[in-house]
Amino acid sequence: MAIAVIGAGIAGLTAAYTLGGEVVVFEKSRGFGGRAATRWYDRPGGRVYVDHGTQYLRSESDPLRRLMLQDLSSADLSDIARPVWTFDSSHVIHEGDSEQNAVPKWSYRHGVATLGKLLADSGRFEVRLRVRIGKIQTHADGRYRLYDTEGSALGDYEQVVIAIPSGQAADLLAASDLPPTEKVALQTALQAASYRRCLSIALGYERDLAPRPFYALVNSDKRDPMAWFAYEHDKIGHAVRGQAVVVAQMSGDYSLAQWENDNDAIVNDVAAHASKLLGERLTDFDWADIQRWRYSQPNTLAEAAQLNGVLRGLWFAGDYLRGGRVHLAAETGEAVAFSIQQARSAS
Ligand SMILES: Cc1cc2nc3c(=O)[nH]c(=O)nc-3n(C[C@H](O)[C@H](O)[C@H](O)COP(=O)(O)OP(=O)(O)OC[C@H]3O[C@@H](n4cnc5c(N)ncnc54)[C@H](O)[C@@H]3O)c2cc1C
Repeated sequence: MAIAVIGAGIAGLTAAYTLGGEVVVFEKSRGFGGRAATRWYDRPGGRVYVDHGTQYLRSESDPLRRLMLQDLSSADLSDIARPVWTFDSSHVIHEGDSEQNAVPKWSYRHGVATLGKLLADSGRFEVRLRVRIGKIQTHADGRYRLYDTEGSALGDYEQVVIAIPSGQAADLLAASDLPPTEKVALQTALQAASYRRCLSIALGYERDLAPRPFYALVNSDKRDPMAWFAYEHDKIGHAVRGQAVVVAQMSGDYSLAQWENDNDAIVNDVAAHASKLLGERLTDFDWADIQRWRYSQPNTLAEAAQLNGVLRGLWFAGDYLRGGRVHLAAETGEAVAFSIQQARSAS
């Protein structure tokens, strides 16, 4: 293989898809898509799908628009019909921005993770799951040798794309054998980016909840412990009729403060908070789940120009270069793929 991509999030998968051919993607987890993630639960009456990271996809810009609506199957893609409204920390609910709400909010029947799966199933590149890259070593012939965290060598590559959150990329570089001056420059550039944490809580009800004119509420003044509250069952195919699922995503401050708290305490606190916000009893849920996102969305960004081009053949992609959105992560993956194509045709 000529090219290795580290990380099968949407940035890495878009890079691999754009390049095609002799490309292998290494992914530490069991699935594709990274933070465009979906969990499923078998409940009485049928399977329930919950997007516990990315809530929906926007097709505002290439390449995500092209991938979702043109290149990959759009058979299971649907727009979430109801709008997003806002609330402030006094729990006053306002109608959302009509312009923003006019833009489709895409989800797949079986969740946003379908996007990663469709990219991986495209056959344009190879993916190796459950392989965590632990070290990159510069090789005498100018190529890079990759190692997993057990120390096994995984081959030599002309080009390597690091498509993982900046903190994880910094840890990987710290463990790698790279020319010292460039390594320090890369580590310094990565330090400019920072992420907030996010506790994402799903609450399931074996009953209907009160009907609402909105699909979700977003906190407008950023002062509430809850950043986002959504009716997951509004997404086509996500919940069985007569059952409800909500997703609450908590602010960076709340998530940091509650990080070490036990799951039951967090879930009960969040359900009580949601009850107050909606003026409806939501504390009698039938099941609940929680996801701790250490790297949820970036607060500050790093400069792509201070990372890409510092070492020949070593590239960086990911949302910390453009902003915490799937379509922006995809843009960084595509940009790196174009740079690699240019570099290869010039040599
Ligand atoms: C709670 C939450 C809500 C969000 N809501 C939205 C939303 O509504 N709309 C939206 O557009 N975006 C949203 N986002 C942001 C969006 O999910 C991200 O911006 C985007 O998915 C980032 O993609 P990425 O490829 O840069 O990184 P990631 O998705 O993080 O992909 C990196 C991948 O690399 C793997 N990896 C890490 N280290 C290694 C290693 N050493 N070896 C091998 N593999 C490794 C990881 O397992 C992961 O799969 C949300 C994110 C979160 C967490």
